[in-house]
Amino acid sequence: MTQKKLKMPNRLKSFKRVDDQTADSMKHSWRRDREVSSTRWRRQGIAFLLEVSELDADEVLSGKRPGDLLNLCAGLSNLCWPADAGEKEKASELAQLFRKPGALAKLIGELQRLFAHIADGKEFDFDLVDGSGFIFKAGALKAGHRPFMYLSSPDTKEGLVQAVVHGALILLDEEGAMVQRCRRCPNIFLANRENQEYCSRKCVNAANFERYKKNLGPKASQQARRRNEGMSSRSPRKAGPA
Ligand SMILES: [Zn+2]
Repeated sequence: MTQKKLKMPNRLKSFKRVDDQTADSMKHSWRRDREVSSTRWRRQGIAFLLEVSELDADEVLSGKRPGDLLNLCAGLSNLCWPADAGEKEKASELAQLFRKPGALAKLIGELQRLFAHIADGKEFDFDLVDGSGFIFKAGALKAGHRPFMYLSSPDTKEGLVQAVVHGALILLDEEGAMVQRCRRCPNIFLANRENQEYCSRKCVNAANFERYKKNLGPKASQQARRRNEGMSSRSPRKAGPA
């Protein structure tokens, strides 16, 4: 199966940087300010991380499509690390970390575990990595800046996974309920509305057709299939109920 190309969401590229005062001593954590804390931004971030969770680590690291690793690192550094980390430096640091054996596969596995737990409404546990810490900046809080609380993670592959998972949890804070498992295929997807049951138009159509066949019963559905085969211009989908 060919993997689709990983694209960095446009809006992530055009982030407004947080002001210097907030950014001055931010450690590994998630970056946001009032301009970027919108639902749309969260959804784009979650959609990006869902894409990351579907990546094939070996394929990305093979370098067949050099843009993939670059976009992955740029997108993650944008979502999960503060402005003062320096986007380019952080992204190249991430690329180096990902070249350590198993680092990218570990991140992908952990994101899969996270999204599966959320889609199925289960509790997700994560043990903090040695060398982690919290930073609470009361000065930023009082000056009305966000964020004012950070999780600091060590510069190891375990720390990298933790920083991304923490970033994901913050993004999922409001939009997490929209992460769903498709009723027809194994896909986990970000729903556009509540009660959305299928991941794609394709799954909706297939489910409609299955329902239609079931309602007809086996004999009638065989007859319908024969009719359809006789009339090539008519697709089975159109035969289904509206
Ligand atoms: Zn589906």
